[in-house]
Amino acid sequence: MTADPYAELRDGVRRLCARFPDHYWRRVDGDGAYPTEFVQAMTEAGYLAALIPEEYGGAGLGVAEASVILEEVNRSGGNAAACHAQMYIMGTLLRHGSEAQKRAYLPAIARGEVRLQAFGVTEPDAGSDTAAIRTTAVRRGDRYVIRGQKIWTSRAQHSDLMLLLARTTPLDQVRRRTDGLSIFLVDLREAVGQGLTIRPIETMINHHTCELFFDDLEVPADNLIGEEGKGFTYLLDGLNAERILIAAECIGDGYWFIERATQYARQRVVFGRPIGQNQGVQFPLARAYAHVRAADLMRFEAARRFDAGLPCGPEANMAKLLAADASWEAANAALQTFGGFGFAREYDIERKFRETRLYQVAPVSTNLILAYIAHKVLGLPKSY
Ligand SMILES: Cc1cc2nc3c(=O)[nH]c(=O)nc-3n(C[C@H](O)[C@H](O)[C@H](O)COP(=O)(O)OP(=O)(O)OC[C@H]3O[C@@H](n4cnc5c(N)ncnc54)[C@H](O)[C@@H]3O)c2cc1C
Repeated sequence: MTADPYAELRDGVRRLCARFPDHYWRRVDGDGAYPTEFVQAMTEAGYLAALIPEEYGGAGLGVAEASVILEEVNRSGGNAAACHAQMYIMGTLLRHGSEAQKRAYLPAIARGEVRLQAFGVTEPDAGSDTAAIRTTAVRRGDRYVIRGQKIWTSRAQHSDLMLLLARTTPLDQVRRRTDGLSIFLVDLREAVGQGLTIRPIETMINHHTCELFFDDLEVPADNLIGEEGKGFTYLLDGLNAERILIAAECIGDGYWFIERATQYARQRVVFGRPIGQNQGVQFPLARAYAHVRAADLMRFEAARRFDAGLPCGPEANMAKLLAADASWEAANAALQTFGGFGFAREYDIERKFRETRLYQVAPVSTNLILAYIAHKVLGLPKSY
């Protein structure tokens, strides 16, 4: 068996995560608190700057390494969703920002002085149909004026900067629906109270996600990323990395569920024998484990292609699909294995169960991935 090329990286993340054990995550979940200390520790260790090139002060690692970092967080019982976006959101700035923008922000993000944790894309009336967004940005002199509403903008209250997708050319004036959208860098520290209102949404998980209301918020024209009207293409460019990283979190969750459940199944004695001796308990865990391992392979295949600069849309999407399904299967098997105790907060199964369920819906729903595979890979007619 070849040694794990990521063993050292895994070990470092595990040691950091050991400082944030189960009771830490249980407490922040129960209090609805942001895991500030954990995110701070991840930032200081440089893990959140994994994908920032060395010339801008980051670690200059690939998506494979970045995915291992997030996997290990979830595998330790934590929740990387509190900070994962910083890793991939900055990719849009890196790929499409001007040199001046990159110099102004990336080193500060890498040093942990500035947080870029929020990306406002989804809107209440558009949902998965991103081209239907209604938030507008209208150029006035050296500024853009933004009006509209976003929903599910996660971590907006725990970020200094946000990337925002807005329509700069009205829908009836563009050739394709996906034209005329642009991406802006919004400084939340200046925007709140000056045309931007943030309202947190209570959810079944501790996710710090919000509704954002833009009422003539002015943003300097210099904060436009890349070319006006090309925002949708820039958004697509970032999706493969996002899919691979989220897949890794699901894989981390999957391993965590199986480890906890097998440990419990060996110890819990009912009818005079460990429950794990019953095939009815073993088989769901064995099946879920096989599915997590398969998703894990697809994650590394997608990451390998991404890091080699090869097309990887199908692999990234399949990795996300398989990993989200596998982690949900593992979650169900673990909850069943724990029986009634699975519902008790002190075992953490119910918390992780809620958390991993999200990945069937966000950042992209399972159906939309299936539609992508059916259309782009299998060549079937587009269904929407
Ligand atoms: C906790 C949380 C955090 C989030 N964080 C962010 C964030 O930081 N930034 C951001 O921009 N967004 C964020 N989102 C939004 C997320 O990306 C969307 O919820 C997701 O893309 C689905 O959109 P929707 O909820 O509007 O569902 P809808 O688009 O309304 O879809 C509802 C259901 O219908 C199905 N459906 C819709 N159209 C079709 C079709 N053509 N074929 C088959 N099925 C279809 C979907 O699969 C889904 O199951 C977050 C969401 C949540 C819940």
